[in-house]
Amino acid sequence: MSNYHMYRDGPTYNIHGNTYPIKDKLKALGGTWDGKKWSVVNTKENLDALRALGISLRVKAKRDAFCHESESIIYANSSDVQLGYTDKNFCGNCDSHYRDRVKLTRIDE
Ligand SMILES: [Zn+2]
Repeated sequence: MSNYHMYRDGPTYNIHGNTYPIKDKLKALGGTWDGKKWSVVNTKENLDALRALGISLRVKAKRDAFCHESESIIYANSSDVQLGYTDKNFCGNCDSHYRDRVKLTRIDE
């Protein structure tokens, strides 16, 4: 599992997680730190560079109901959304990991 992940937020990618070990590389991409997260300008080159650093992209998706959870909007790994499902789900109502496939539908661009 990756130590960090990112979300696209309009003109930037916001990078969260334990980014200290890669801070110089983010700085080299023109990244800025606001005390909580890094922001890097959204370009194709930067996205490729961020992915090459092992930062997984999360995208907005609709997750179908499962176990005791109702349908919800989540940020999921883009690779899972491409597959169309995730089998890494946690049910907060019965406090258990739910390992069956749950359908994901991308809802942004
Ligand atoms: Zn449950």
